[in-house]
Amino acid sequence: MKFGGTSVGDLDRIERVARHVRAQVAEGKKICVTVSAMAGETNRLVDLTRRAGGGDVSRTPDYDAVVSTGEQVTAGLLALVLQREGLKARSWQGWQVGLRTDATHGAAVIEGIDSERLGGSLDAGEIAVVSGFQGVAPGGRISTLGRGGSDTTAVALAAALDAARCDIYTDVDGVYTTDPRIVPGARRLDQISFEEMLEMASLGAKVLQTRSVGLAMNHGVPIRVLSSLEEPRADAPCTLIVDEEAIMERRVVSAVVPSRAEAKISLLGVPNTPGKSAMIFAGLAGAKVNIDMIVQSQARAGESANVSFTLKEADLARALAHLAEVKDQVGYTDVLADQNVSKVSIIGVGMNDHTGIAAKMFETLAERGINIQNISTSEIKISVLIPAEYTELAVRALHDAFGLGAVRSEMAGAVS
Ligand code: ADP
Ligand code: ASP
Ligand code: MG
Repeated sequence: MKFGGTSVGDLDRIERVARHVRAQVAEGKKICVTVSAMAGETNRLVDLTRRAGGGDVSRTPDYDAVVSTGEQVTAGLLALVLQREGLKARSWQGWQVGLRTDATHGAAVIEGIDSERLGGSLDAGEIAVVSGFQGVAPGGRISTLGRGGSDTTAVALAAALDAARCDIYTDVDGVYTTDPRIVPGARRLDQISFEEMLEMASLGAKVLQTRSVGLAMNHGVPIRVLSSLEEPRADAPCTLIVDEEAIMERRVVSAVVPSRAEAKISLLGVPNTPGKSAMIFAGLAGAKVNIDMIVQSQARAGESANVSFTLKEADLARALAHLAEVKDQVGYTDVLADQNVSKVSIIGVGMNDHTGIAAKMFETLAERGINIQNISTSEIKISVLIPAEYTELAVRALHDAFGLGAVRSEMAGAVS
């Protein structure tokens, strides 16, 4: 069971979390819980590290020493509440459960979990309450798993303990057709495939950290997403994340995902000779900048080309600094940066055997006068880059156009 920041936001909420845990224990299950920091706490800690370190220090061991503390507090508090209610429980930190990571501080990748001690404690009838988000890097320093990383802690623990299921409790009662905070008519999906969830997460839906979904897919861990804000009940609404074959309903588009945290860089006057793209993008990869949509304009032989690409807003400063360094080597004439863009994507496993989805998406946006700057596609998603001020309009329009607010059986025929 994993409880996110809002779910453990204060002691009253932690008491409700304890009731959720108790309900599962009452069913005779052995329970491993992992918790996030209280809502807002990690942001507060990140801000303190910026002020103390004089800028972005998120790749350093001492950043992790600071930002991992929020989860230590909530794990201890939940264990205390459970004990007060007469249950056997103890708190664990990442290093104590043997959650080993690589040395990428601030965004560490889990390498393995030495779960014998934890398993022994569960077998002895103790509820384990593990601090999410944190592990131990080679050499023994505390590491953290990137923002939203408690989801990944939960799935990794479920896989290591061979758990029957991983329940992600949050402040919504499942995965919706789009962010319910943007479109009030968004609907909860009863089921969604790992593939779709992976796309949704990586395209910016906050509800699960991308890595947690990949890990669950690789280890076959079934995930349920459900609300901690309701009192526990056996028939609580939820979303099951399952293999594609297990999904009962066929739908073409399952979800619309907005992401505002995007930026666009355009390089003008790039010499049109072999090796320039390699030079640009290898350098950016070396600077740990993830690149998304790439567009290169057509150029006649001998003429220069324009290359534009998108990236996370948070990486913009690093990318621009790198590009300034290699300006002469690459030979481009100008660089433009635009933070006023957002990416809106539609996702659905049904897309690969239906035609007309892209056309319908573009028409829908054109009808609203929304200009598309970049496009990228995969088998199960289409993303467009648009001016940021149109994000909500685009999301609502696409949600309507693909019938996501309507009953699903009606929309199966809506696009052929
Ligand atoms: P937690 O603190 O529990 O980890 P998060 O804030 O990380 O919770 O994720 C839950 C939030 O994700 C919801 O409050 C919701 O606003 C947002 N969200 C974005 N897209 C979706 C979606 N398609 N379905 C459900 N929630 C979504
Ligand atoms: N507390 C961490 C964060 O805010 C991890 C998490 O909530 O999953 O990113
Ligand atoms: Mg989260």
